[in-house]
Amino acid sequence: MPAWVIDKYGKNEVLRFTKNAALPIIHYPNEVIVKVHAAGLNPIDISMRGGYGAATMAMKRDPLNMNQSGSEFPLILGRDVSGEIMECGLDVNYFKPGDQVWAAIPPWKQGSLAEFVVLSANEVSHKPKSLRHIEAASIPYVAATACVLILGGSGGVGTLAIQMVKAWGAHVTVTCSQNAERLVRDLGADDVVDYTAGPVEKQLQTLQKFDLILDNIGGETEKWALDLLKPWNGAKYVTLVTPFLHNTDRLGLADGMMQSGVTIGCKVLKHLRKGVHYRWGFFAPSGPTLDEITEMVDAGKVRPVLEEVFSFAQVPQAFEKVEQGHARGKTVVSII
Ligand code: NDP
Repeated sequence: MPAWVIDKYGKNEVLRFTKNAALPIIHYPNEVIVKVHAAGLNPIDISMRGGYGAATMAMKRDPLNMNQSGSEFPLILGRDVSGEIMECGLDVNYFKPGDQVWAAIPPWKQGSLAEFVVLSANEVSHKPKSLRHIEAASIPYVAATACVLILGGSGGVGTLAIQMVKAWGAHVTVTCSQNAERLVRDLGADDVVDYTAGPVEKQLQTLQKFDLILDNIGGETEKWALDLLKPWNGAKYVTLVTPFLHNTDRLGLADGMMQSGVTIGCKVLKHLRKGVHYRWGFFAPSGPTLDEITEMVDAGKVRPVLEEVFSFAQVPQAFEKVEQGHARGKTVVSII
């Protein structure tokens, strides 16, 4: 079949057109073959052309590592497809040949820059009738990407969280003051909402709903933030600003813990009825987690955001700085 393939990783010259790419075949009864009418391109195609994620994809395609390295070639890129069902595996009841469909193709599978592509039926959906194929091919991959909202993106937690969530491939929306927009965009934020420019919830309601909200602000935010989650989709709100320590300081350990248990229990149940998950997040020291961060830092995916460095003699000034609030990253003390 006609297809654009690559035979090695590199720049644009590795793209090769062929009329003789192998026709995909159905290996499993839940698979369908789609005739491609339009293919969408995404930044991940450019990255994958250069070899991005090659090791992980190889493991996904061949978990027992039986194949030689390079066995993925000729590789077909293209993660979005809009087209028509040509053939269905024996277990496929929901689709029939001729159905107009669209899909986001997992990155370890052959892509859509070809005449045909084989997919699992559960990766495919009926295309909106109102969209032409070229329009439909612009949506699935970006729509399937997790959407994360970080409330308070300019401080210590936020500046690291933006980078980590971005490295995991999510679409990130951040709230911060207007003068922090440049910083959070440089760290990877896709959408930025200025909370000083009016009711932040009104601005956020105009965006698509979120899969995950990380709340570094607390207080009033809880009243509206959970309505921004996709209901009945496993979507989660995690707040770092909890009354846990305040309760144990005020009521003593046993009563404080009991009070916290009742509070969190009621909130979890209340929001579960609306199809979203409510959680408290806590600092949890962990060497293995730091190992993951080390990998991300060494891979250039996460960088420290140092706002100000104080000398050992200036510890009181460092405290004053942090106490003033309005952090833009972290304050650090250089001891030697
Ligand atoms: P920082 O002080 O470093 O950052 C807070 C940031 O939020 C600042 O950049 C501030 O900038 C911004 N901000 C303030 N008000 C708003 C608002 N309404 N909307 C959006 N942004 C706002 O704090 P951290 O990032 O270190 O921590 C965040 C919170 O999480 C703190 O309350 C902290 O105590 C808590 N925390 C809890 C943990 C736990 O274990 N549960 C662990 C770590 C942190 P500006 O005012 O200029 O807009």
